[in-house]
Amino acid sequence: MLLKDKVVLITGAAGGIGTAAAKAFANEGAKLALVDLNEDALKKVSGQVESSDILLVPADVTKEDQVKNYVDKTVEKYGRIDVFINNAGVNGANATITEQQEKNLRFVMDVNFFGAFYGLKYVLGVMQEQKSGSVVNTASNGGWLGAPGMSVYAASKHAVLGLTKSAAIEMAPYGVRVNAVAPGATNTDMMRRIESNAVGEENVEEAKKAFEAAVPMGRYATPEEIADLMVFLASDKSSFIDGTMVRIDGGMSAN
Ligand code: NAD
Repeated sequence: MLLKDKVVLITGAAGGIGTAAAKAFANEGAKLALVDLNEDALKKVSGQVESSDILLVPADVTKEDQVKNYVDKTVEKYGRIDVFINNAGVNGANATITEQQEKNLRFVMDVNFFGAFYGLKYVLGVMQEQKSGSVVNTASNGGWLGAPGMSVYAASKHAVLGLTKSAAIEMAPYGVRVNAVAPGATNTDMMRRIESNAVGEENVEEAKKAFEAAVPMGRYATPEEIADLMVFLASDKSSFIDGTMVRIDGGMSAN
């Protein structure tokens, strides 16, 4: 087991990638703290995870006091945080830049940038004091490439990369590593929303085929494939990898 008795805190834990991460970390022997806005879905996830140590903290990551609370609750129960999977995210509405509405900008930046930032602010404080830890931020291939119609999402994920690099340099003297994963299209509810934003509810199968055809490997990632990368980056197997973003997109960004 790569993470026996390590304390792993995951946000967006009720979503597709978060749930796969919770299962993968539990299989590596970790103790879990699971955070999500959706309390009912969070309870369902805990029933699917094989770990005797699970803490559930419903929270909105856009609210600084709720972020502080999920960090405090985790430290209260386990005394430390070894791994932080900073993963909650939203895709927002599709529109070209000329048609973007302020409401969508605020919504996407609030969750993807402010939510990720607050998480780092409070978790890194804990890790700095304990002089160890590994953080994995969930970026996207939109954190590296342009995304027509999803510019705000892409900008928010570029911001996650900026946070990742800066945090890695700030925290290296304390033995804390900070990296990001950059998934391409991954088979979760988020992709269902992106397909339907692109072409409307009735044509989602067509959209899925077109999106898959754009991937050199010809398919979406499974959430489990993303979770396996998170486990690797969280564990000592990646002990000299710091401040980087690892792309996991079936060859998409090689084009
Ligand atoms: P998902 O929609 O299945 O899960 C996202 C989870 O985040 C949901 O459970 C949701 O309730 C939670 N969440 C949203 N807003 C929140 C808030 N304010 N506070 C707390 N929790 C909140 O999507 P997913 O595919 O599992 O996405 C996980 C991460 O992966 C996101 O950061 C997303 O941007 C990123 N990502 C996804 C894909 C993809 O194709 N699915 C690709 C690249 C990156």
